[in-house]
Amino acid sequence: MKILVLNAGSSSLKYQLFNMNNGDVLAKGLCECIGGKGGSVTHKYADNKHVIETELEDHEKALSIVLDMLLSDEHGVISSIDEIGAVGHRVAHGGEKLKASSLIDDEVVKYLEGIVPINPLHGPPAIKGITACRRLMSSVPQVAVFDTSFYSQMEDFRTIYPIPYELYTKYQIRRYGFHGTSHRYVAAKAAELLNKPIEELKIVTCHLGNGSSITAVDKGIAIDTSMGFTPQEGLPMGTRSGSIDPTVIPYIMKAENLSPDEVEDLLNRKSGLLGISGVSNDCRQIAEAAENGNYRAKLAQKILVNSIKKIIGSYVAELNGIDALVFTAGIGENDAALREAVCEDMDFFGIKIDKELNKTLRGAQKDISTADAKVKTMIIPTNEEYMIALDTLKFCKE
Ligand code: AMP
Repeated sequence: MKILVLNAGSSSLKYQLFNMNNGDVLAKGLCECIGGKGGSVTHKYADNKHVIETELEDHEKALSIVLDMLLSDEHGVISSIDEIGAVGHRVAHGGEKLKASSLIDDEVVKYLEGIVPINPLHGPPAIKGITACRRLMSSVPQVAVFDTSFYSQMEDFRTIYPIPYELYTKYQIRRYGFHGTSHRYVAAKAAELLNKPIEELKIVTCHLGNGSSITAVDKGIAIDTSMGFTPQEGLPMGTRSGSIDPTVIPYIMKAENLSPDEVEDLLNRKSGLLGISGVSNDCRQIAEAAENGNYRAKLAQKILVNSIKKIIGSYVAELNGIDALVFTAGIGENDAALREAVCEDMDFFGIKIDKELNKTLRGAQKDISTADAKVKTMIIPTNEEYMIALDTLKFCKE
């Protein structure tokens, strides 16, 4: 059985075709600059890469090129569309109703359209990807896998904001959580590595990339997470502020004469590690600047480390313990210095890492805790696409 996984952004479309018999990626690629000038499709299969440069006026055009590529004599990996058992779509937000991965029909699409106001950045491109796919591959089942699903069992006292309750009932303003597919994947992997049923474990998973979030997983269920109504809440990120005193926002708007859109842009694209350091949103460049004595770069590093520590600590309190701490995504998997700083002085919780084991190369799945540590600290490379494929497979007929 083969599953195609699609992740549609506003001007991009990522794809991976999995052979579910062994989990192999048969082909993957990226369509860029959809709806703009200089469009391209980069298609990779086995050890080969083929790039097509062409205008991609919309997602449907991009997808049609992807399908041509998958089927082509020269660069293809399948001989008929019928070999694809189903398509799994990454959808950031399932709102209040779509709590689990769902087979897509007209009703699901209508619901997703209806929640665009609470998902304005990621909703429209996901709908475009789904619509294009339903048109071009009408005989293939389409499945939506939501980033929010993993958080559907979070209790109301963890999701409701302390603002007038009517704002929740009127506008669905509450905490939803994001990156759920990644947290779900690494939590399951951690249990596998520990060789214990997930139902017996308390796990804190740290997805630290350009966007970052931390999740508390109790017996396999996500009980709390750092992102909220949008992926803006929680940790400082590459360019996102994360949590700040909400009163700062109207204050900045008045002081700088900014519109709601402008202040949103400031908090989304000019804040976080970039805003603090003034150097970059990328931890590698910040580390380099910090090495050279740049005060703001060092400050950005310290703020990030402290924010991660605070959230881990609060989740250990909520979970009443911790068996495993997991690092994943670009920073989590690669930044040994950050992992070391986060885990420093956490022996009170039983978290102790071996500095030599911590120096590891990307892609490695590794236990980096000391032999006497009560908590297993692990690096687990995330694989959201495979998790989406696994969910999608459940909807396929044999
Ligand atoms: P992601 O969003 O998961 O792709 O993560 C991207 C981020 O990971 C980049 O912006 C960097 O901050 C960080 N990153 C990637 N490689 C490294 C590395 N070798 N050392 C430190 N940070 C890294």
